Amino acid sequence: MKKPEMRHSVAAALIASLFAAAPPANADVAPVVPTNPVSRADASFDTFKQGFIDALLTQNPEWALQVGQYRDAQRLAIPDPAADLAFAQKWLGQLARHPVGQLSESNRVDRALIENQLRSIQWYRSQFRNLEWDPSEWNIGEGFSILLTRDYAPRDARLLAISARLAQVPAYYTAARHTVRRPTLEHTRLAIQQSQGVLDLLGAPLESAINDSTLDEAHLAELRTRASLARQAVREWIAHLDAMLPRLTRGEARSFRIGPALYARKFAYDIQTDLTPTQLYRAAQAEKERLHTKMDALAATLWPKYFPDTPLPATRLERISQLIGKLSERHVAAAEFVDEVKRQIPQLEAWVRDHDLLTLDPDKPLQVRETPLHKRGVAGASIDAPGPFDPAATTWYNVDPLDNEPAAEQESTLREYNHWMLQILNIHEAVPGHYAQLVYANRSPSLVKSLLGNGAMIEGWAVYAERMMLESGWGNHEPEMELIYAKWALRVVCNTILDYSVHTLGMTEAQAMRLLRDEAFQQEAEAQEKWRRVQLTQVQLTSYYSGFASIYALREDLRRREGEAFNLKAFHERFLSFGSAPVKYIRQMMLH
Ligand code: ZN
Ligand code: ZN
Repeated sequence: MKKPEMRHSVAAALIASLFAAAPPANADVAPVVPTNPVSRADASFDTFKQGFIDALLTQNPEWALQVGQYRDAQRLAIPDPAADLAFAQKWLGQLARHPVGQLSESNRVDRALIENQLRSIQWYRSQFRNLEWDPSEWNIGEGFSILLTRDYAPRDARLLAISARLAQVPAYYTAARHTVRRPTLEHTRLAIQQSQGVLDLLGAPLESAINDSTLDEAHLAELRTRASLARQAVREWIAHLDAMLPRLTRGEARSFRIGPALYARKFAYDIQTDLTPTQLYRAAQAEKERLHTKMDALAATLWPKYFPDTPLPATRLERISQLIGKLSERHVAAAEFVDEVKRQIPQLEAWVRDHDLLTLDPDKPLQVRETPLHKRGVAGASIDAPGPFDPAATTWYNVDPLDNEPAAEQESTLREYNHWMLQILNIHEAVPGHYAQLVYANRSPSLVKSLLGNGAMIEGWAVYAERMMLESGWGNHEPEMELIYAKWALRVVCNTILDYSVHTLGMTEAQAMRLLRDEAFQQEAEAQEKWRRVQLTQVQLTSYYSGFASIYALREDLRRREGEAFNLKAFHERFLSFGSAPVKYIRQMMLH
């Protein structure tokens, strides 16, 4: 619950389930008999797409594991910029044989996504070069963690794959030491911390899996030797990074701020919108001002009800801040947290149905559960969605229970996810936010749109869902709900302002804290965590607001154009029918 906006896991969960029961890579998914030149072009492009995805996953066995394709489980790929550049070059050449003009609308979008992916690989490897300055890019943990915990095959079979991977670990870290040149201090510290986690993973959990194994002695002996050498390699990597720290802290480190030029390109590849980062930043600034004005009016309305004997504070930020503090006192008890989420979901579903906002698939009910132990502590709340190849599987809404946290942390989380905020969280994560969007995305037959799904579209939809639900009257237009919603909206907007300012304008930590604490009303812990995140990531924090802003603008443009004929439900269903494509392409198709 601490950072529900950190939603990388949504796409990953969708992707993972997509491949869990996927047909073999070259199976004929949709046999098409070409009857005219257009469908022949599309049929040929469909074959190309299958070959491309297959090759992309072969090139990235770690990613393949994440998306649930285990064919290359025994292979630990050593990052190799030259090989990636050759890959991109080769597939761009093949792509050129499929001109845009003859393709269907859906395939044009797939083509654009593939081209963006390939150009992005070229740019990341030749210009951004983060393998050289971000040591946390060198991390073998996820693959081993998947092989240890996912039951895709019997444990002994998985242990053989683990054994083969372990044998490649020393070479992996040799490459890491040769590649990382002048890292940032922040990513070096992160890499040290995460590598300790890798060491832990290759310790007790691996040993206990080995001890429970029924493999023959020869295999087990080999496994133990390889595990020991792998752990040694990780320890040496940590020592290597530790040894760098003194000179990095002396000022020889690269700055974590990527600067305006790299930022603009990363924004273009990752977000895929028509706006420039500066245009988005200016829009976010204007939205912040609009929200403050609105919140101040709400605070003035609510003041006598909550502070009958206290005069109104002199400044706008003080008035808003005191009211938010007061409203945050209304929250459920820690022990009731998960039950309260469970209670709200059917209410949200009924609302969406009764107000004609979106058709929800009654065959894909959402089940709320406490987050399974091995997944806890990452996102606080997340969705595990089934893929189109596994239509019978349940969609899970994982919620971390609060019972076991220290009292002070419990209280802070409960105040953040107070009576009103918890409703907004459920709208965002579940109905009609991420869960509803993923059910629709799974119906989109394009593997490309799912695999190369756009984070700004996915997050933008969830943020849009909040606003749309409140517009439809959820919360009765109560000023309390409006004020707490505005605080959430402010977080989304300030994510963009912070990211752009820190990476391109040199915003200092003190300035960042002023923005987050004083102007976005965040708790100290929340603000500190955001500061840490903006030093370690670039651009991702802008995806929420950029996605939201472009979806909202599209809706309003269509509403203006269609006038009386505009139908909100029809808009939502058509918008979601394109899969998780970037909003700018959905816009082209909807305005066509
Ligand atoms: Zn989200
Ligand atoms: Zn309390």
